[in-house]
Amino acid sequence: MRYFYHIKCESNFNYKNTMDEFMKLAISEARKGLNEGGIPIGSVLVKDGKLVAQGHNKRVQENNPILHGEMDCLNNAGRIGSYKNTVIYSTLMPCYMCAGTIVQFKIPKVIVGESKTFSGAREFMEQHGVEVIDLDLDECKKMMENFINEKPKLWDEDIMEL
Ligand SMILES: [Zn+2]
Repeated sequence: MRYFYHIKCESNFNYKNTMDEFMKLAISEARKGLNEGGIPIGSVLVKDGKLVAQGHNKRVQENNPILHGEMDCLNNAGRIGSYKNTVIYSTLMPCYMCAGTIVQFKIPKVIVGESKTFSGAREFMEQHGVEVIDLDLDECKKMMENFINEKPKLWDEDIMEL
């Protein structure tokens, strides 16, 4: 099933603390993961303003350490050819693995829900010309804070702080 939402692109649009339909969808993916007993991180891929795929972290559900939200989303998208004019959304700042994939695939833009609970690889992506927008959303921060408080060991495993 495909959705046809359009991204707001007014030139002086203030992204901070606001979100569009794609970020809402990424958050709903994160909540799906949480309900499955997994890590609440969701991701959405958009091309030419249209939804391509969505996904969420499935490390616990599929016993797969590389199935982060962004990786699951890109996996669900399949082969889409060029990643020009794509935007990847994530409820949390991408880690180095996901950031490496974003750089490798030449995805030009990343919009994240927050980077307070995990600072990720923002500088790495920016050094490679990726535009990174951090919406700093309370909803995303609370979701991660609650999860980290409830399952600290599971989170430490995800970020390799073992
Ligand atoms: Zn990752």
